[in-house]
Amino acid sequence: LNRQIANQPVTIFTLMSELARKHNAINLGQGFPDTEGPQDMVQLAADALLDGRNQYAPLTGLPELRAAVAGASARFQNIPVDAESEVVVTSGATEALAASFMALIEPGDEVVLIEPLYDTYLPVVRQLGGIPRLVRLEAPDWALPREALKNAFGPRTKAIVLNTPMNPTGKVFTAEELAFIADLMRQHDTYAICDEVYEHLVFGAPHLSLMALPDMRERCIRIGSAGKSFSFTGWKVGYVTAPAPLAAVVAKAHQNLVFATAPNLQRAVAFGLNKDTAYFTQLAQEMDTKRQILSAGLARVGFGVLPCQGSYFVMADITPLANGLDDMAFSRLLTEQAGVTTIPASAFYDAQSGTPPRNLIRFAFCKREEVLIEAVARLEQWK
Ligand code: PMP
Ligand code: GLN
Repeated sequence: LNRQIANQPVTIFTLMSELARKHNAINLGQGFPDTEGPQDMVQLAADALLDGRNQYAPLTGLPELRAAVAGASARFQNIPVDAESEVVVTSGATEALAASFMALIEPGDEVVLIEPLYDTYLPVVRQLGGIPRLVRLEAPDWALPREALKNAFGPRTKAIVLNTPMNPTGKVFTAEELAFIADLMRQHDTYAICDEVYEHLVFGAPHLSLMALPDMRERCIRIGSAGKSFSFTGWKVGYVTAPAPLAAVVAKAHQNLVFATAPNLQRAVAFGLNKDTAYFTQLAQEMDTKRQILSAGLARVGFGVLPCQGSYFVMADITPLANGLDDMAFSRLLTEQAGVTTIPASAFYDAQSGTPPRNLIRFAFCKREEVLIEAVARLEQWK
């Protein structure tokens, strides 16, 4: 057995979703919408199956989806990319991340990662023999600690991973923060893996891509997900844009991981990415309303609700309500006693180094308004 893989715990999302099912709790843990995405996309995907679109798609993706990804890159981020050579369609952003790490990391390479972080980054970096250099953001404002970031870069740095809008903090990186990161990348001649799956889910502050900054076009691998942009997390369609020499290596990693992604879903996502800009702004507006309902409700219950500028998630300080319990024990208690499931935020920190904060939990607000209202009512009744 491969011990590194065998010893990994089952993901916190699976753990908490199973706990939610067992206790019949409202699941505000794992981030998935409880409504369907655009029905015209579902219809197209269904029609494509009946039309006989059931064999392998091309390795880097259907031409129509690669063209749509390139179109969206130019339209929303002003980053023109060549659909032929600079786009790779993947089976979700999860695969895009793994393929990007595989494309860049050799044993001994250092990778700068920002904590709290999404759970798949660290295991894959370590599996490839990469050495994580962690830089921690602190609640409640999650500002970039510039000195610490500067110190994390060195002669062996291969890449930084930048997730904006950020899971689980809801932080959207500012233009100044991105410029500071870009400076370090130029100085140390490094790449960036830009996890931008929540690019369309921002609530005021604009989403800015590192790849749009001067000289960054050649250094960035930018990742998106149809799961988040169209509320189809089960489809697992993601996409990578990168300069041609990098995209070619990501495609080689992809050929060994899955080779190709379901063609009917690719066709539907191509149609989705070509939707009017109004679709994307409306998605963000609807999500913002949900955020406001949940944030206000949690504050009434007595949580210390943290600001959130983007993503599906809001963080809450449990200190006023937890009676000294840590985030994991408190999350279990909320599921069992209040019937509401959350994610303990310590899961987003490296278990092998440092001490994570134990006073924060993450709530997903990508749910129907009546579900959020019921969750708050349950919490009010419990406390
Ligand atoms: N990155 C981040 C920050 C995420 O939150 C998620 C999913 N929640 C992913 C990547 C994975 O996306 P996908 O479901 O498209 O694989
Ligand atoms: N990305 C989702 C979240 O943060 C979970 C995805 C998963 O369960 N793998 O909640």
